[in-house]
Amino acid sequence: MSVLIVGSIALDTVKTPVEEHGDLLGGSASYAATAASFFSPVKLVGIVGDDFPESEFEFWKSRKIDSAGVQRVKGKTFRWSGEYAWDLNTRETRSVALNVFETFKPALPESYRQSDFVLLANIAPALQAHVLDQMNKPRFVVADTMDLWIETTRGDLDALLPRVDLLILNDSEAREMTKETSLIKAGRRIRQFGPRFVAIKKGEHGALLFGEDEFFSCGAYPLEDIHDPTGAGDTFAGGMAGYLAGNVSAVHFTDLRKAMIYGSVLASFCVEAFSLERLRQLSMEEVNARYEMFKLMSQFEVAA
Ligand code: AMP
Repeated sequence: MSVLIVGSIALDTVKTPVEEHGDLLGGSASYAATAASFFSPVKLVGIVGDDFPESEFEFWKSRKIDSAGVQRVKGKTFRWSGEYAWDLNTRETRSVALNVFETFKPALPESYRQSDFVLLANIAPALQAHVLDQMNKPRFVVADTMDLWIETTRGDLDALLPRVDLLILNDSEAREMTKETSLIKAGRRIRQFGPRFVAIKKGEHGALLFGEDEFFSCGAYPLEDIHDPTGAGDTFAGGMAGYLAGNVSAVHFTDLRKAMIYGSVLASFCVEAFSLERLRQLSMEEVNARYEMFKLMSQFEVAA
């Protein structure tokens, strides 16, 4: 089954303590769609300007990412620039230019409306809701969000949450949303806002998953070389949603545990290079090999 993904499509400038690159393909939907495409066909929804490279449309086609829902309009593509501190964990946004995003109203092609699986990648919650409004009863809705929306459009976010099956957010966002210092309390509290399941990402420390009476925790893949953490969260969400759409018809907690490992595997590859460069070169064999490594690393009862 395919997964519908809506989010930002951007041209990024990223500065780490050792390198800086501009005009990189970025945006929550770009990362999420590429990650999801390892497991299922994707129907992409977004907007780009006339400065956006045609070659990306070719790339999407080669990955079975349907771009019929990507609007191409006059003007400049959304641009974002960020700078990382030495720990490659703390990030400061240097600039954001909404450009064509300012007037974006997602309009779903007829062929998209029946999709059973949806990933509302990170964009304003009102736009995420507008996409859901056009859909015919999706079976499973995954949503991502960020601190900006928790701080500036909390009402819209609260209205969206009861329509979401799985909410994905990072540790600081979970704490900000609930005013809880304990992530365990925060995860449980967020479930009370509406989502049946909540995944809290902890960067290099792994992720937590909450269901009604269920809990799962996994580590992150131990990487020696991180070049650019941008998009890791979007890749994690895309990997999870793509795995579910491609492999599961009725989603249970056991499926979400596996989906979370695939999301973590994809995110671990994403940060090995700038922009989508590592994901573009990645093979399914490499994904499966790292998945097996995860399995081995998380066993604690082994024969001597
Ligand atoms: P992440 O590293 O997972 O937080 O995602 C980084 C990506 O999010 C970058 O490629 C940006 O283009 C994109 N981004 C940054 N700010 C926003 C925003 N306000 N809305 C949507 N996407 C954004």
